[in-house]
Amino acid sequence: MSDIILDSKSFQSAVNKISREISDNNKNIREVVIIGIQNKGVFLAKRILAEIAKLVEIDKSRIPFGTLDITLYRDDLDDLSSKMPVIKDTVIPFDTGRKNIILIDDVLYTGRTVRAALDVLMDFGRPKSIQLAVLIDRGFRELPIEAKYIGIRYQSEKLIKVECKETDGADRVVFIK
Ligand code: 5GP
Ligand code: MG
Repeated sequence: MSDIILDSKSFQSAVNKISREISDNNKNIREVVIIGIQNKGVFLAKRILAEIAKLVEIDKSRIPFGTLDITLYRDDLDDLSSKMPVIKDTVIPFDTGRKNIILIDDVLYTGRTVRAALDVLMDFGRPKSIQLAVLIDRGFRELPIEAKYIGIRYQSEKLIKVECKETDGADRVVFIK
């Protein structure tokens, strides 16, 4: 049994809302770079980037895009909590110094993945800011990390399934009972 948290329409509304807030908060688009966290964060980041480009009427290729691959090293898939984030790969082929980095992931939970991402980003130089955007804030933080842009808040101790067009054929977020 599964409950639908976001259907394709509300998924798109959440993406649009995040994109609008990011462009409202970052009037100088030339200072904006977007970085997605593998796996689903990258697909989301690409969507948000395209949406922002539309909103500010520039070609999407003009917004620098990078990816971070941070995997939670875990032996128990049901319990992500207290697992160690391991940095596998970083693709940031541009200068992030004095830029506003928009860091994007699908789900925010304990905050450990984002903390690991911040470590990597700080090694790249001194950005003007790092702003976190997530589709779902699942609650249960173990670190003082919060997102600036949130699609929806859905407090859940259980895993949420995030599906997107590119990998699953449709956009959907479901709660697995
Ligand atoms: P955290 O490090 O904040 O505990 O967990 C966030 C990372 O784990 C994100 O990269 C996210 O993709 C993944 N994650 C955490 N909880 C969930 C969940 O309920 N569903 C999905 N699909 N991913 C999750
Ligand atoms: Mg992830």
